[in-house]
This record gives sequence, C-alpha cells and structure tokens, in this order.
Amino acid sequence: MNLKHRIILTLAGAMLSACAQHGLADEPAKSEPLKALLITGGCCHDYTQQKQILSEGISARANVNWCVIQQGGSSLNTKIPLYNNPDWAKGFDVVVHDECFAEVKDLDWIERILKPHREGVPAVLLHCAMHCYRGKTDEWFKFCGVTSHRHGAQYPFDVVNLAKANPIMEGFGDHWVTPNEELYQVAKVWPNTVPLAQAKSRETKKDEVLVWTNTYGQGRVFGTTIGHHNGTISQKVYLDMVTRGLLWAAGKLDKEHLHPLNPADRIALPDPTPKAEMKKAEAKE
Ligand SMILES: [Zn+2]
Repeated sequence: MNLKHRIILTLAGAMLSACAQHGLADEPAKSEPLKALLITGGCCHDYTQQKQILSEGISARANVNWCVIQQGGSSLNTKIPLYNNPDWAKGFDVVVHDECFAEVKDLDWIERILKPHREGVPAVLLHCAMHCYRGKTDEWFKFCGVTSHRHGAQYPFDVVNLAKANPIMEGFGDHWVTPNEELYQVAKVWPNTVPLAQAKSRETKKDEVLVWTNTYGQGRVFGTTIGHHNGTISQKVYLDMVTRGLLWAAGKLDKEHLHPLNPADRIALPDPTPKAEMKKAEAKE
C-alpha cells in the first residue's frame, strides 16, 4: 500500500467513526422523552378513565413521559393541592390542563396557574379547561384563546378542518363526525388565536371554533373544546390531533419526537404537589 492509499484509508476510517459518534451512521439521533404534566379532576367527567386514555394514547404516538395528577374529586370549587406549590410547573416541557373547576374564582389563585404559562411553559387545554376559573377578569379566557360560557345538547357534530396545511391537522382529513359530544359555544375568539377547526352548532346556528392555537405571553397554547366522552377521546383522529398539538406547543412537532415512547425509557415523573397539602386533602376526603 502506498502513502496515498494509506492517507485515504485513514481519512475514511476517521469519517466513519465520527458518523457513528454522532448517530449519523444508521438512525437519526435519539431524542430525550418530553416531560409532560397532566392535571385532571373536578366536575362532570370520567377523569379516572380519561387520564389513562390520554396519557397512554399520547405516549403510543410521541416520545412523552408523564406526571399524572388527579385532584379535587368531582367538585366544581376545589383549589387543588398542586397549585400550592408556586413552582408547580417547574421542570415540565408541557402541561395538559384537563380539569373542571368552574366555581374557583379567586384571582390570586388563577394567577398562580397562569404565571408559568405567561412566562413560557407550553399548555394544552382540553374541553372543560375552557369553562374553568371564571374570575372577575377575562385573563383565563385570554390564556385559553377563546371565551366560552356554555354548551348545547349532546349530538354528533361535523368538525371541519380549516387548516389542512398546518402540521397539527395533518392526517385529520377534510372533516370528522364525532360521536355524541358537547359542542361548546364560543362568545369570543381572542386576537392571537388561530382557528384550526370548527363545527356548526344546532343551537346558535353558528360555526363554533373548536380546535385552535394561541400564544399567551411567552407561552404557546394548543386548545380544543372537544372531549366530553371517553368514546370521543379514544378515537384515533382525536388522539392524533391532540398529540400533534402537544408537540407543537412544546416546539417539538418533528420526527425525533413523533414516535412511540420506548418502554425502556418509561418513568413516572415526580409529583410537585407539596406533601403537607396532599395530606390535608386526603384527611378531608
Ligand atoms: Zn363536558
């Protein structure tokens, strides 16, 4: 072997080992699972089942680990123990609000929930989250991106995709007819909101926005008012859409995160609820 050949071989070897180190040889580099917090509980819904359907359904589609918190029983007016920790959102990449506490109106309390989102923690808001925390100001609705006070009777409705080019709505198709569901009536769409889907209400005769994105301060928000019944949220089209919305909110709607959580990576993330508050809540029950 002459010197020229030796140099070529040495260079080729160095390049191969550099590729292997950076994971370029076979697969794309592995992403760390996102750290997601699911907060659920309160009135009028089967949150015990729904927390399973959502967390399992999303991790079957995206590289996401969970801390799942269900607090407040089936009440409308519980200030749940979690928010006693001022740093309740610290360390999470995204927070899913699937709670239903319409009678909690204390503005200081609402501010505890809003502050981390305004400062940049991404949020996913599902169904009754839009009917929560109806304080004297509109701040909660501004965070949500839509103002809604009520829904009509339950019936299947035709969800029309308004944003086929938006990556969140990829795979949704032109429209989706839900099972029996609650269609929330939207009184106001806030200026930062981008509607992604709508459905015609039998009661208002209006097209009601029911899937959207919003920005609140530094934080991205994905919201949908769909999600009353377990049969709705179990549907593939719903779980695909919410998964994509969650990744978008976290700034991670990409190939590296849009794959199932590897069972070997699965961990339950630590619960940020202050222990003393947890004990007080348990003693009350
Ligand atoms: Zn409902």
